[in-house]
Amino acid sequence: MTQSNTYNEEYWKEKLTPEQYHVLRQKGTENPFSGKYYKQNVKGIYICGACGTHLFSSDTKFDSGSGWPSFWQAADPQAVELKEDRSHGMVRTEAVCRKCGSHLGHVFDDGPAPTGKRYCINSCALDFHISSYGR
Ligand code: FE
Repeated sequence: MTQSNTYNEEYWKEKLTPEQYHVLRQKGTENPFSGKYYKQNVKGIYICGACGTHLFSSDTKFDSGSGWPSFWQAADPQAVELKEDRSHGMVRTEAVCRKCGSHLGHVFDDGPAPTGKRYCINSCALDFHISSYGR
């Protein structure tokens, strides 16, 4: 059972900011170049803004020019669930936190080596923990 089954929407509404709620729970998108992590280049880990699961490492972050934080790989392939998204007249791959079911962003096939993937993630769907051991 995932946490999305134990935490209802009232819980998330109280816990998250309105912007976080819109993105994480209603599949919203923050404006490009507006997020706090887009330009961040610091060693550490990016965690789910809702449930705190470790999702991405700064080691895989790159500047895609898109205006959203971009990663070429998830920290753990099990942590990020990929789902087909046919909204807005497009077929895209949605990235979801597997543990809590929250929307993170989308995954595209135009990323850099070695994976060729671009995880295009909303800043406000993430929190950041700076690394204290130089990773
Ligand atoms: Fe989560």
